[in-house]
Amino acid sequence: NNRPFAGRTAAVIDLAKLRSNIANIKSRLKPGVEFIAVMKGDGYRHGIAGLYPTLKECGIDSYAVAIWEEGKMLRDAGATESILILGDTADDMLDEAAKYDLDLTVFSMEGAENMAAAARRAGKKQNVQIKLNTGMNRIGFPVCQESFDTIKKICEMDDLNVTGIFTHFARADEGDHTSARKQLDLYLHAVNELEKMGVVIPKHHVANSPAILMLPEAQLDAVRCGDILYGLTPSDDFDWKNSGLQEILSWYTYVAMVKEVPTGSEIGYGGTFVTERPTKIATLPVGFADGYSRYLSNKGKVIINGHEAPIIGRVCMDQCMADVTDIPDVQRGDTVTLLGEGMSIEDMANMLDTNVDVIVCNISVRVPRVYI
Ligand code: PLP
Repeated sequence: NNRPFAGRTAAVIDLAKLRSNIANIKSRLKPGVEFIAVMKGDGYRHGIAGLYPTLKECGIDSYAVAIWEEGKMLRDAGATESILILGDTADDMLDEAAKYDLDLTVFSMEGAENMAAAARRAGKKQNVQIKLNTGMNRIGFPVCQESFDTIKKICEMDDLNVTGIFTHFARADEGDHTSARKQLDLYLHAVNELEKMGVVIPKHHVANSPAILMLPEAQLDAVRCGDILYGLTPSDDFDWKNSGLQEILSWYTYVAMVKEVPTGSEIGYGGTFVTERPTKIATLPVGFADGYSRYLSNKGKVIINGHEAPIIGRVCMDQCMADVTDIPDVQRGDTVTLLGEGMSIEDMANMLDTNVDVIVCNISVRVPRVYI
């Protein structure tokens, strides 16, 4: 067995590449800019617990995740840094969330009052960050005087401690930054208006990965860096190939069975592939329950012994088949690369007409994450 992992399948995460990405990103930040590592979706499914020690060692300043449960995962991994919850926290979870010293995102007076009530019950102040909606139209206070008045009141609430104010770009990935600049201007206008009212909030941040790469003026006190930490390309309009950033996740399985079938054999459910020549088939013990998309049926490619092998027939829940007729000496136990050299996450995203985040987020919990 020449496999880089034990067992059926594994997503192998290269921590040396993670370190290299972090150094690369730091070299793009202006001096003194706080590096917030975005680890939502369990670290874009690379695994919070497995990544945290390396991030700490690399001097990441603080963290952001989507939901309080991911904040807890980071605390359980030993994180003592500040952790921002980017999304909403359900009212009936505020008491639970208060246990983990998280910065909750607030975008209404009602939300602030609920957080303050939970803080009183917990007997401590709740950290919050103000979210402004400058164009994404997802969550956030609209930029208007009424919001400024509400934000001022929130800043004066005894049970809350306002630690930051932020917004999120909808189109920073585009080569034309007209939209992102408009959002940035609106954000800066809001902060300025608040300051004129005597409301001074310590931490200002707007930049996500594409803005870090392409819009340096968006680096304020901090940047929120997700995609590029994992080496996932955040934009088609950036010269990624020459960036030095690299994907840190590879995904492997092995050949479970090799067999030869005659011309005219139907392969898999529905007989959607019919062999047009005597065909050697490798059966792989991975399917859509692992996150190997069913849309890869008759479309995907895997790498076996350095050669591309097309997926033939429908991808099943737990298995799929590859045509290895043209690959010499394929044997049970040979390593199969599902993602990695020869089939990058970006290649698969293009193949499935989706983005890189979807590919990594779909690799299911059934696939062990291995850190090298
Ligand atoms: N900030 C917020 C509010 C987000 O939702 C995200 C993720 O989309 C990020 C930052 C990180 O974005 P990226 O992965 O482009 O760095």
